[in-house]
Amino acid sequence: MPRQFYSCHFIPALMFILIPLVLFAQTDYRILHRSAIVADGHNDTVGRRLDENLDISKRLADGNIDLPRLKEGGLDLPFFGAWIDPKYMTSGTGKDKDQSAERVHAMIDAVEKLAAANPNDVGFAKSTGEAERLIAGGKIAIAMGIEGGHAIENSLAELERFAQRGIRYMTLTWNNSLDWATSGKDEAERQDLKFRGLTKFGKQVVRKMNDLGVMVDISHVGVQTFWDAIRTTRKPVIASHSCAYALCAHFRNLRDDQIKAVAKNRGVILVNFYAGFIDSTYDRKRAKSEPLLEKLRKQATDPDGTFNQVKFGQLVQEQGGNEIKSLRPPLSLLIDHIEYIAKLVGPEYVGLGSDFDGVSALPQEMDDVSQLPLITKSLQERGWSDEAITKILGGNFLRVWKANER
Ligand SMILES: [Zn+2]
Repeated sequence: MPRQFYSCHFIPALMFILIPLVLFAQTDYRILHRSAIVADGHNDTVGRRLDENLDISKRLADGNIDLPRLKEGGLDLPFFGAWIDPKYMTSGTGKDKDQSAERVHAMIDAVEKLAAANPNDVGFAKSTGEAERLIAGGKIAIAMGIEGGHAIENSLAELERFAQRGIRYMTLTWNNSLDWATSGKDEAERQDLKFRGLTKFGKQVVRKMNDLGVMVDISHVGVQTFWDAIRTTRKPVIASHSCAYALCAHFRNLRDDQIKAVAKNRGVILVNFYAGFIDSTYDRKRAKSEPLLEKLRKQATDPDGTFNQVKFGQLVQEQGGNEIKSLRPPLSLLIDHIEYIAKLVGPEYVGLGSDFDGVSALPQEMDDVSQLPLITKSLQERGWSDEAITKILGGNFLRVWKANER
């Protein structure tokens, strides 16, 4: 009785198979990654690579970022951070004049030059509207931030000039404390600080950044500076490249109460990929390899005393052998930090802040920007929805940038 079989048995059996398939079907991670706007809060490419006159429009043998690998990794909106070596502040360069601001302008010039030379591939995005237009046109939208408030040379007028030229965030301090703000490193390691947190002028800087649409970046700052900034800002803040202190107790990482405060402020924490910030055992394991690393560090230091991080990374890869390779934490530890923050305060307040081209060790499988889709894959495997993943990949960061434009 074939008819009866079809009506009584076959259709329910078919539904039994199809309904779970439809309910639990996941978008292929590669498609999800491609369709999302993927943003990254921080890399050091402009200082480490463009500054050396390297042409990143072609694939480079070393480093973590160039245009071909940016495309492969589906990174639509990388923020190039202008990190200013504190040596430019004073006599470190043998010159009397502070050259910090000059350095930022040179790095902005370098990004403008890159965009002008590769108009079909990239653009320099100074607003979220511009970024979205570039991305819709299949291009990479490069945006810029400054790492280290010493860049403004204690001048609000200089901050204004940076904003006019397209700077869209500023990390209040790098590892060095300023006349108006103390750093995470100093607050953790020094007892002799004359003050902690933001001075009156420091608070003025934060308010001026709010006025100018320059996002306040609290990565690198001291705990006291963090709370002063959170209480002063009228707009959502970012942590452009920081992880969770609960998983790795490093002064560069954020404690639970800080993560909750950023979420309350409707800001975003962009998770750093550096091995030493995600793996609490990394520094101890690395100490054992210190003699070899010291040798390579010397080789990677230019005659003028400048340490070349990219060269160091390359030497580590070439000469480090299995000893150094085995130090790299598994990719799952990086995902743990993203997931920790997402579970603590919700997936609306976390994103990516790779620190590519600025760190000596990345997690396994994450050799460079081309491997970013593995993060999407891992988050899917842990059961996060397409909607949550899309927010983590870039939606959250764009939301914060937009909120700062108003
Ligand atoms: Zn940094």
